[in-house]
Amino acid sequence: MHYEKIFEEIFHELQLTEDKGQVAEYIPELASVDPNQFGVHLTTVEGAGFSFGDAQTQFSIQSIAKVLSFVMAYGRLKSEIWERTNLEPAGTPFNSLLQLEIDMGIPRNPFINAGAIVICDILVSQLADPKEEVLAFVRRLSGNSSIHYNPRVARSEKDSGSRNYAMIYLMKSFGNIDNEIETVMDLYFHLCSLEMSCEELATTFLFLANNGVVPWSDERILSPSRTKRTNALMQTCGFYDEAGQFTFKVGLPGKSGVGGGIVAVHPGKYTIAVWSPPLNSKGNSYRGMLFLEQFTTVTRLSIF
Ligand code: GLU
Repeated sequence: MHYEKIFEEIFHELQLTEDKGQVAEYIPELASVDPNQFGVHLTTVEGAGFSFGDAQTQFSIQSIAKVLSFVMAYGRLKSEIWERTNLEPAGTPFNSLLQLEIDMGIPRNPFINAGAIVICDILVSQLADPKEEVLAFVRRLSGNSSIHYNPRVARSEKDSGSRNYAMIYLMKSFGNIDNEIETVMDLYFHLCSLEMSCEELATTFLFLANNGVVPWSDERILSPSRTKRTNALMQTCGFYDEAGQFTFKVGLPGKSGVGGGIVAVHPGKYTIAVWSPPLNSKGNSYRGMLFLEQFTTVTRLSIF
């Protein structure tokens, strides 16, 4: 398949319609990103890579990192993890406090903010140096030792983090946070600040397309069963309050972030990462969603 040609054609087709998205504005580092940047990269499990546009430019992966922290905690706690977080779609915004109160401090899933904060609490309990070890894990998955946290983004996340603090205090009041609040939040804010390119992102997620094993290093990250479950969670919970739409239109498990990135996985075949900063009203990349819809329609490479 001529992926690069397909990427180019879809890109040009999308240029004909107005981009109705808006870049995230809650922190200056995201508000000032050039909205016209666009990148896409596909990696097959056999190791072939195909790029178009700004596929090598690093951007803030934001909530996409929640999958990676979850995988780290899941591999350690195994099924005990479900005592700390549920695994159902939220049906409310990613930073909702309402549901958390009703569910007595148990987040709906590990990919909404509250769930990712609980996962950070687990990692703080499990790891000697959580920030360094999470970074080392991501570097290992990507095969790239230059992946980094952006300290300015982490600082801005903290400065605008009132709702996230409200969530952790609420969960602590229900007994679902074990560690010191600032230590957990420091890890959470750094996680949000990870930067990667489309190429790095597609490479990092490749183990989820390969039964839990990094194809090029042979390292097992998750068992086949837990890999299946992680993909299932991305399918049902990976797109804020729009996971149904993504499943309906694109037909792949995936995860998005408010930096405008989306990564999607076709088990057994490939991973694809797309980046276009303007977001739709649900917080997913406006053009990224349309691009992937067209891609799986043209190539028929969806899981449904
Ligand atoms: N950094 C954001 C927050 O904690 C989450 C961003 C995202 O959903 O991508 O509020």
